[in-house]
Amino acid sequence: MTAPAGSRTAPRTAEVVICGAGIAGVAAAYHLTVRRGIRDVVIVDERPPLTLTSDKSAECYRNWWPGPGDAMVALMNRSIDLLEEIARESDNAIRLNRRGYLFATAEPERVPRLLQAARDAAEHGAGALRIHSGARDDYQPAAAGGFEGAPTGVDAIVEPALVRRHFPYLAADTVAVVHARRCGWFSGQQLGMWLLERAREKGARLVEGRLERVDTSGGRVRGVTVSGRDGALSISTPRFVNAAGPFLGRVGRLLDVELPVFSERHAKASFNDDLGAMPRSAPLVIWTDAVRLPWSAEERAELAGSPEHRHLLDELPAGVHGRPEGPLDSPVVLLIWTYDAAPTEPVFPIQVDDAYPEILVRGMSRPIPAFAGYFSRLPRCAVDGGYYTKTRENRLLSGPLPVEGAYVIGALSGYGMMSSNGAADLLADHIAGRPLPRYAPAFGLDRYADPAYLDLLDRWGDSGQL
Ligand SMILES: Cc1cc2nc3c(=O)[nH]c(=O)nc-3n(C[C@H](O)[C@H](O)[C@H](O)COP(=O)(O)OP(=O)(O)OC[C@H]3O[C@@H](n4cnc5c(N)ncnc54)[C@H](O)[C@@H]3O)c2cc1C
Repeated sequence: MTAPAGSRTAPRTAEVVICGAGIAGVAAAYHLTVRRGIRDVVIVDERPPLTLTSDKSAECYRNWWPGPGDAMVALMNRSIDLLEEIARESDNAIRLNRRGYLFATAEPERVPRLLQAARDAAEHGAGALRIHSGARDDYQPAAAGGFEGAPTGVDAIVEPALVRRHFPYLAADTVAVVHARRCGWFSGQQLGMWLLERAREKGARLVEGRLERVDTSGGRVRGVTVSGRDGALSISTPRFVNAAGPFLGRVGRLLDVELPVFSERHAKASFNDDLGAMPRSAPLVIWTDAVRLPWSAEERAELAGSPEHRHLLDELPAGVHGRPEGPLDSPVVLLIWTYDAAPTEPVFPIQVDDAYPEILVRGMSRPIPAFAGYFSRLPRCAVDGGYYTKTRENRLLSGPLPVEGAYVIGALSGYGMMSSNGAADLLADHIAGRPLPRYAPAFGLDRYADPAYLDLLDRWGDSGQL
């Protein structure tokens, strides 16, 4: 039961109030109630749980992350450990698999960089690197379902003939693939609902309404004000968690705290792959080369005359990716490609270029040529998306804010489903006053007060965004 703000059943006090019932907020509620025994938790949201960004994700996960340092891999390994625990406890209600991420290239000069990224990931704790070059083919393909006993680490196949043997559906000029193994996908909605239900069983309550005010008189959190359809509600509480997703900055300002976050619009498309272009047991396929979309001479002439779409004749950035969605007998595929990630104000509903599905299908025909079968007749696509709300270096925030009793869990960017348990576990340690994991400082807001960190930011390099 969700209590509307202002109704008779709405709570008036709480040990912790969380603003936001996206994956960040429900994971925080779960870790506080179920795993730390802090029962009196209220989650406030003006929307039904998990409906703003957390139901728009591609639901993938990976422990493949760049440095500097190993904090990102360590946090993600912890998050994946927790996902696996939940999968075991729930009889895999979250449908966690470990099919892996397959990074592919047709550019020989890119191979050393891919191998270096694989070495770095291995060094940061993603697991051992195995290089396969032909003489001995001991590459182990991924199982379609489940995760127990599946390899971790990274397999690099650097012999084109071997690539073709294992991935015959990839473009014939693919020269190498890197298969990151402790990666795959799961049902984000199942995960979110499972976390929320367990939290509610242990005492968490949901209040429907907009969190409008945080009372910080005397320099510490004292309560919040929520407005809803039945009026306003004041909840007195000593602790407040900002888990407001794309509105993280706005809610931060209620505490007079400026959070260093911004948002980018990202969308995905899914459709019935009736031509069977994507094998049903494929991993997530990511093309690491820039792509020039294939157009006929007539289409080129038409695009050249369109100021809105002329850029589609240019080279588009690397990173088109896709995967099969649903059970093995489902025809659905899911494609994503963010070729334009300029920072923007989050506005809902999000606007997506009408040409996006066509761009995706044409882009995906580079790694998987069978997608060209759709050029003459585009399939009917479902398009949705939301915002990656992120920090400059694409590392999330989880920890205390400079107002006593206030915390943040957010800036989960394009990896919030996979990292939610790790981030919430860390937040719960902060709130419960438990010893913190080694990687905690990498995700605290106070990292930006460290001159050495600011210096590092200027030399950061790869942010790990796909
Ligand atoms: C296209 C796309 C693909 C993605 N793919 C992946 C992927 O493959 N793997 C992955 O791990 N992640 C992925 N992500 C990222 C992931 O979806 C997000 O990181 C995650 O959903 C963010 O969760 P959140 O709880 O922070 O935000 P949200 O889910 O947006 O939740 C925030 C909640 O706060 C509420 N709120 C805000 N302000 C207030 C207020 N004042 N009062 C009351 N309520 C308020 C909102 O109503 C909302 O419900 C993807 C995202 C997109 C857009």
